[in-house]
Amino acid sequence: MDDKSSRAYLGIDLGGTAIKGSLVHIDGSLVAIHMVRTPIELGRNGIIQALVDLISSLLELAGELNVAGIGIGSAGRIDSMSGSVLYATENLPGWTGTQIAKEIEQRFPYPVVVDNDVNAAAVGESWIGAATEQKSFVLMALGTGVGGAVVVDGALIHGHQGGEGDLGHLIIIPGGAACNCGQKGCLEQYASGTALNRHAQEIASDWDSRRLVEASMLGDAQARKVIDRFVANLAVGLINVQRMLDPDLIVLGGGLIEARNSWWDALLQAVTEHTNLKLRLQPALLGNRAGIIGAARLAMLADKMQ
Ligand SMILES: [Zn+2]
Repeated sequence: MDDKSSRAYLGIDLGGTAIKGSLVHIDGSLVAIHMVRTPIELGRNGIIQALVDLISSLLELAGELNVAGIGIGSAGRIDSMSGSVLYATENLPGWTGTQIAKEIEQRFPYPVVVDNDVNAAAVGESWIGAATEQKSFVLMALGTGVGGAVVVDGALIHGHQGGEGDLGHLIIIPGGAACNCGQKGCLEQYASGTALNRHAQEIASDWDSRRLVEASMLGDAQARKVIDRFVANLAVGLINVQRMLDPDLIVLGGGLIEARNSWWDALLQAVTEHTNLKLRLQPALLGNRAGIIGAARLAMLADKMQ
C-alpha cells in the first residue's frame, strides 16, 4: 500500500567536483548522504555511469520507503522541460547536450526531474531553509564560480535559454578581468572562491582563500584590503540584483559563506555605503545539502500523487 508517510524522493546534486545524493523523506529529513568524485576524465558516459551507480547505492537504502521519484540538480544550463543540458562549461567535459532525464529514466522505474544545481539549492532553501517565508527571493551562490537562482511568486524563473539567474556574469567592472564566458569584468571574477584564491596568491604564492580569510581576521592589512575589495564588488552586484528584481530577500550560499565571519558585517556596511535601497541579506541555512534537498523537493512537487 502507498502510505504517504513512507514516501521518499531521491535528490542528487551533480557538480564538477562531486556527485552527492540522498533519499529525502517528505518532511525534508535525509537518509545517509552518499558522495562520489565526478569522473570528469571519463567524459559524458563516465559521469552518467557514476550517477547511475550512486542512484543504485541509494536505492539499496530504501528499505520500507516507497521511492516515488528522482530529482537531479546539475551544474550548467538546463532545459528543465526535457531534463537535458543546454550548456555546461569545461568543468563537466562532454556534458553539453546530455539528456540526463532520458538516460536515468531508461535505467530506473521512476520519473526524473532535472534542473540547474543552484535552482535546486534555491528550492531547498525555500522549502526548509533560509527563505521559507519569502515568495520572491534570489539565491546567490559564492563557490568555485558565482551562481544565481531567481524565485518569483514561489516559482523558479528559467529564462528563454535556461540562463535566468546567471548572476555571476553581471558585469560590474567594465573592461575588467577576462571571464570564461567571453566577457570582461564579471562579478564571478571578483566574488567567487576562485577569485579570492587568485587574489590571495597575489599576496603570497602559497596563500589560498582560507589563508587570506584567516590573515584578515588577524588584522593583516594586505589581506583586509583584498577582503574589502571583494566585499565592495559583491555589494555592487547585490545592489544591481535588488534594482533589477526587487526581491523580498537575497540568500547568500556556496562555500564562501562558511567563512562569512570575516566579511559579513563589512558586506552589510558596504551595501549601505553604495545605495539607499534596503537590501535584506541572509546566509543560506542548508549548507552543502541544499542542492540534494531541493532536487528531491522538485521531484516531490512534480509527483501528481503527492
Ligand atoms: Zn562571465
